[in-house]
Amino acid sequence: MEKIIAVVSGKGGVGKTTFVSNLGLALAEFNKNTVVVDADLSTANLGLQLGLYQFPMGLQDALEGNIGVSEAVYSHQSGLKVLPASISLSYLHKNPSPYRLKSLLSDLDGMVLIDAPPGLGKEVFLVLKACTDVLVITNPEIPAVTDALKVIRVARELKKEPMGVIVNRVKDAYELRSAEIEAMCEAPVIGTIPEDKEVKRSLFEKTPLLSHRPYSSASVAIKKIAANLIGEKYDKPKFLRLRNLITR
Ligand code: ADP
Ligand code: MG
Repeated sequence: MEKIIAVVSGKGGVGKTTFVSNLGLALAEFNKNTVVVDADLSTANLGLQLGLYQFPMGLQDALEGNIGVSEAVYSHQSGLKVLPASISLSYLHKNPSPYRLKSLLSDLDGMVLIDAPPGLGKEVFLVLKACTDVLVITNPEIPAVTDALKVIRVARELKKEPMGVIVNRVKDAYELRSAEIEAMCEAPVIGTIPEDKEVKRSLFEKTPLLSHRPYSSASVAIKKIAANLIGEKYDKPKFLRLRNLITR
C-alpha cells in the first residue's frame, strides 16, 4: 500500500481543493500513479474542479457498500484518477466508518491524496483516522494558522505527525512569514504557493490551473511541491513570463 495523504486545513476556503486537484495533475505529469479523493462529503467539489460534472457513482456509494470502490474511480485525460463524492444531499445524515474508508482507500493503486472537509468535526476525524499521512495547508494569516494548529493537534492525538505545512496565497505583505508559521505549528513549512490571479481565472474557464496556465506562478510552485514529495528533480523553467504569454 502506498501513502494515503490527507490534505487538511481546519479553516475552510484556504485552497485544499485547488491544491489537491492540481497536485494530483502535477504528480500525473511526473508519471506517478495517483488517485485524488473527495472526502469533503457534504460540500463536495473536487470532481467539478477536474471537469467531472456528471458521474453515476461517488465515494458515498462505495462507503454504503452499494458498489466496489473501483466503480467510482474515473480517469482524467492527464492520467490522474479521480474518486469524486456525490453532490446529492441524500447522503447528508449517513455516518460512514473510518475503518470502511481506510479499507476502500487501501484498495486503490498508487498514491492517494484526500481533499478533506474543513473544520474539526466528525467528517475530518473520519479522514484523519483513515489516512496514513497528513499534510496541512494554510494561508499566511493568524485565523487560518490558528485553525491549522488545531487540526495538527488532533492529528498528533491520533499519532499522525504531519509531514509538513503548505502555505497558500502568499503575497509577501502584511502576513505571517514561513518561520513564524513553523514556530506556531511546530511543523516544517514544506512548500509555499503564491497568490495567483490565474487560479480564479482557471475556475471561471472550467479548466484546472495546471492545464490552463502550466507556467503561472502557482502552477510552478505546485509542480515543485509534487517533485519534492516523490523525490524527483524539478527546475523552475526559464523565461516564465514569455512561456506564460505564449500559452495564453
Ligand atoms: P478549500 O477547498 O480549502 O475550501 P478552495 O480550493 O475551494 O479552498 O479555494 C478557495 C478559494 O481560494 C477559491 O476561490 C480559489 O480560487 C482561491 N485560491 C486558492 N488558491 C489560490 C491561489 N494560490 N491564488 C489565488 N486564489 C486562490
Ligand atoms: Mg474544498
